[in-house]
Amino acid sequence: MSPYEERTAPVAPFQKPFFRPQTMHHILEPDDALETFLAAQGAPAWRARGIRRWLLQQRATSFEAMTDLPKQLRERLAEAFTVLTTTVASHQQDPDGTEKLLLQLADGERIECVMLRDGVRRTVCISSQVGCAMGCVFCASGLDGVVRNLTSGEIIEQLVQLTALLPEEERISHIVVMGMGEPLANLANLLPALEVAESAEGFGISQRRITISTVGLPPALDRLTESCPRYHLAVSLHAPDDSLRSKIVPVNRAIGLDAVLAAADRYWEASGRRLTFEYVLLGGLNDAPQQAKALVRLLRGRQALLNVIPYNAVAGLPYREPSGAARTAFLEVLREGGVNVQVRRRKGGKIDAACGQLRRVSVGTASGEPVLHTQIPIKSTSASTAPKITPSQASH
Ligand code: SF4
Repeated sequence: MSPYEERTAPVAPFQKPFFRPQTMHHILEPDDALETFLAAQGAPAWRARGIRRWLLQQRATSFEAMTDLPKQLRERLAEAFTVLTTTVASHQQDPDGTEKLLLQLADGERIECVMLRDGVRRTVCISSQVGCAMGCVFCASGLDGVVRNLTSGEIIEQLVQLTALLPEEERISHIVVMGMGEPLANLANLLPALEVAESAEGFGISQRRITISTVGLPPALDRLTESCPRYHLAVSLHAPDDSLRSKIVPVNRAIGLDAVLAAADRYWEASGRRLTFEYVLLGGLNDAPQQAKALVRLLRGRQALLNVIPYNAVAGLPYREPSGAARTAFLEVLREGGVNVQVRRRKGGKIDAACGQLRRVSVGTASGEPVLHTQIPIKSTSASTAPKITPSQASH
């Protein structure tokens, strides 16, 4: 048995989601329920800051652990609020330090999140939705469509659960919203969660170290540009023209590359940050020199970094790894064309952890049939402060 197998908790196959009634309020929701509760108890308002510090910085998972609170207040808090709404259904570890959690939500749905280690960096890849409506052909997360948006509290709870994997002296340094779901389709819940991630009372993660990764939904991207253009943005292209992109990223049929790029440009103007574009290199599909030339034309004049992510073929899917020669020729055309390009190295390969794959295997499909393992290349980002690694678990 490999070290990986020894450390991997078993996942029950095809287990039907169960419903656990949730009557108490989730304390990690970034709302004023805690302040309202404290006022009703006659407790000072400053207690709220202390309680959040316990939860987000001192890793308390129960009110009982908050030893500087009066005992009666702790008991009443425990009656009114739940601290964690998720349970760890599976925990996988790769020898390279990558760890992946399959979290079961209160309603029985499951999501994935990942911790990546690279030097002193502790990058987490988190999900924004259960499932995904974008339908990218190589992605397990999108195979069954979207189930629902995650709440802000559920997004924050991924950070709490991942922080628990780290020794006391370590903290999350970077966040990439690249897991299951399309982040821009859940901006209303995502942005409050990222505010908690950034805040000094929360996780204290610099906004420059937070990346939102998207296939590009122009109206939502414009809302982000208007309201909060401070995060690093990564846009998944995967093709240099509409015809091919609509095959790989079906949602493109209703949008079109021009609109995606125009919205990305508006974000760039507002944020002043270099954009990242992602391109999963699929053998025989989007890896021809002509396609590289078209990509050069597409990106010309933009201050952007292009991440090329060679696909790793998996039995059962009609996509294959690009040949070494095709990859080299593709990159040569890009570099000669003046594109700022880099090939992403992969992390977590041993845990076979394509985004959405673990969830699908654990809950089965609607037909009850097993799901093929779809090892999905993950996009990553690469600004100076962005993560340097490509989690093989991420998607988009
Ligand atoms: S790659 Fe990302 S956007 Fe595409 S289906 Fe998967 S989760 Fe959704």
